[in-house]
Amino acid sequence: MVVHAGFWYLAGVMRYDKVIRFYVLVFALGAVLGLGGGLVFGGAGDVGGFPGGGRPPGTPETQATGATGAATPMTPERAAAIGANELGLIPVLEYHLIGTPESQWTRTPENFRKDIALLKSEGYYPINLRDLVTGAIDIPAGKTPVVLTFDDSSPGQYRLLEDGSLDPDSAVGILQAAVAAGNWAPRGTFFILLDVRPKDKMVFGQPESRRRKLKQLVAWGYEVGSHTVTHLNLKKAPREESVKQLALSKATLEQYIGGGYQVETISIPFGEYPADDALLSRGEWEGKGYAYIGAVEVAGGPSPSPYSTEFRPLHIPRIQVTGDALANTLQMFKDNPELRYVSDGDPAAVSAPSRTADKLGRLLPDLGRPVIRY
Ligand SMILES: [Zn+2]
Repeated sequence: MVVHAGFWYLAGVMRYDKVIRFYVLVFALGAVLGLGGGLVFGGAGDVGGFPGGGRPPGTPETQATGATGAATPMTPERAAAIGANELGLIPVLEYHLIGTPESQWTRTPENFRKDIALLKSEGYYPINLRDLVTGAIDIPAGKTPVVLTFDDSSPGQYRLLEDGSLDPDSAVGILQAAVAAGNWAPRGTFFILLDVRPKDKMVFGQPESRRRKLKQLVAWGYEVGSHTVTHLNLKKAPREESVKQLALSKATLEQYIGGGYQVETISIPFGEYPADDALLSRGEWEGKGYAYIGAVEVAGGPSPSPYSTEFRPLHIPRIQVTGDALANTLQMFKDNPELRYVSDGDPAAVSAPSRTADKLGRLLPDLGRPVIRY
């Protein structure tokens, strides 16, 4: 597989229409709901304690159930007091280059830092993509999960300075500072390239530090995922080459990280899916097996809840963070709080109002855990 030196530029061209479609979708959604919010609920019935009766998300009264698991079972009364809605939408954010100047594919360190501050102040809390896929969402009560994803493993995402310390202006440096400041966790998913030109997109550049960085990310709590070996176009590539790269990227990353780590998620290069999703779900090349349980698109808006009939784990939509896209998304949630996922703080239970917006889908029939409606 020959990778064109200018694949980055080509990626930009290919994705452009998808980005535009996303903006149209977000603004159309906002407009529709803004004009006729009541219609979303079908106009009838009891909407429950949320959003009218509950507190705004991010200002929970009951923090005690927290991220370490609840000692007492969740009840409808507590879920209502929190305003929990675990059928709500979850933003999955998409970052590429972290550097200067700001452009369609580049977020400046300053703006990235502002993004994290904004998410914090608006009551969001990070999880890994894997936790979204498996429904293992363990965040404080009243918070909304957010998944930060990073494609293409460029140096600005994770850079070490000459003395070996973490570059405070790289994405990981900014995230770790946010963790140290409190009210934030070391979570986020990095989709790694292993063999590309330019070479600085091979595992964040700095070839001597590849293994150390991947191990450190996992040790902190972040997730490492696949982006294929060469940024392969899975739609156009021969099936054998796709299977080879899906297997080899996972095996290589796991070998770098060690400790039995499992690579389970993938970002589809260019958003170009293979003709059959089954290619992602299971395969084997030269004795190396893979079974991806989650895959992300390059656009599409906020993701359905993993507990919803709308959730498609191999087609998780994302929000590309460029310009005002993040601010617009958070504003959309402010304008339409009934669409926002709000955690009950109890990872063992799934809580939602008895009536929810049609757009959110319905709770899956067999979640294998207690379901609280109020
Ligand atoms: Zn990419």
